[in-house]
Amino acid sequence: MKTIIRNGHIITAVDNYHADILIEDDIIQIIGAHLPMTADKEIDATGMLVLPGGIDVHTHFDMPFGGTTSSDDFFTGTQAAAFGGTTTIVDFAIQSKGHSMQEALDTWFGKAEGKACIDYGFHMIVSEASSERLAEMARMMDQGVTSFKMFTAYPGVFMVDDGGIFQALQKAGDIGALIAIHAENGSVIDVLVQEALAQGKIAPKYHALTRPPELEGEATHRVIVLAALAQAPLYIVHLSAQEALDAVIAARDHGQSVYAETCPQYLFLSYDRYEEPGFDGAKYVMSPPLRTIKHRERLWQGLKSNDLQVVSTDHCPFCMKDQKILGRDNFAKIPNGAPGVETRMSLIYDGAVSHNRFSLNHFVEVTSTMPAKLFGMFPQKGTIQVGSDADLVLFDPNMSTEWGVKQAHMRVDYNPFEGIKTAGSIRVVLSRGEVIVDHDQFLGHKGRGQFIKRHAVQNL
Ligand SMILES: [Zn+2]
Repeated sequence: MKTIIRNGHIITAVDNYHADILIEDDIIQIIGAHLPMTADKEIDATGMLVLPGGIDVHTHFDMPFGGTTSSDDFFTGTQAAAFGGTTTIVDFAIQSKGHSMQEALDTWFGKAEGKACIDYGFHMIVSEASSERLAEMARMMDQGVTSFKMFTAYPGVFMVDDGGIFQALQKAGDIGALIAIHAENGSVIDVLVQEALAQGKIAPKYHALTRPPELEGEATHRVIVLAALAQAPLYIVHLSAQEALDAVIAARDHGQSVYAETCPQYLFLSYDRYEEPGFDGAKYVMSPPLRTIKHRERLWQGLKSNDLQVVSTDHCPFCMKDQKILGRDNFAKIPNGAPGVETRMSLIYDGAVSHNRFSLNHFVEVTSTMPAKLFGMFPQKGTIQVGSDADLVLFDPNMSTEWGVKQAHMRVDYNPFEGIKTAGSIRVVLSRGEVIVDHDQFLGHKGRGQFIKRHAVQNL
């Protein structure tokens, strides 16, 4: 099967030029001006930007949490991702107490296989740092799981103490793995939550008020120190607060290999959402919570200055109707998470490019290229070049898109970005050479997505 995309305006993290792209089966074979050959399928990209498919390295499809399960599975979630211009996701398998990493990986393969319609990888969540568990990390690496997530939050569930995190960092440094950290001080947050509940403070906004930015800053700084001592690279997930960004900047200024992602919700929304009437604040209950508005522009600056390298989503949807409602009388029981896998690319294009914060190239860098590089998928993914997978997005910069629960493909009954209008429109999406989205139509099929065996971390 040969496909030619004609007259596109190709944008990568470094390039900006007009050319045709010849795809043969899964792979980009030739890029050149006015290619003379013919193909089975021709796509006219006149007036369109041709971008590498988006890579979202932080999703939670079909994830158990607090007695319920995130409402998108690997089919609906990856389909929504595709509509949003994302062609690769990295989700999280969860090693839970008393179970091995292999069991976790097998469980998550079972969730994704036969369902995912774009390519996917897994990080491994490590909730025990015993020597037996840590010995499994190398076996995970052999299977293409090269990054491991640990928590300084959620005591009793995911939290591992500092000694355990330090040992995992040492191991990761030895074998070329990357440790990703959810950095909030869970023990202190637990005290604040108990105090609030004892005072009868049960509304959704107390979720945010009991997880102050100082505790994200403190935990971020702490794990940065541990990573420096362990001589291991470190990745901070869903960074939301200025205090945490300051810690990352200080470490990077000293030459430490510290990387961090932020998410669209922290760039577009803010604390005032928790003050919405009734129980609506529950829509935005996620960890870390939305911050006050002063943090937002700092995060945009962090992306621009390359102190933050990645925008992911932490997509973890729960319906208001029968899931978020579990915390009606106790904010601590509201399932943590919100949808976003479909809106990421358009929001960041709008906020970055249309609002002149940074260039098209840098937009591609933070939404595709750096995620691919940091997580061992480059250059198979994350760029447009001969030999790379033909994961491509045809984006019309002259149109616009309005976002809302009605238009969305995510399986959830609200959209945190309801009513937001973004510049540009995703028109055609290819995954390994196959058109899977054409305007409003889904042409892919359930289960076509392939597991990506990722390689070891390279220092960037
Ligand atoms: Zn997450």
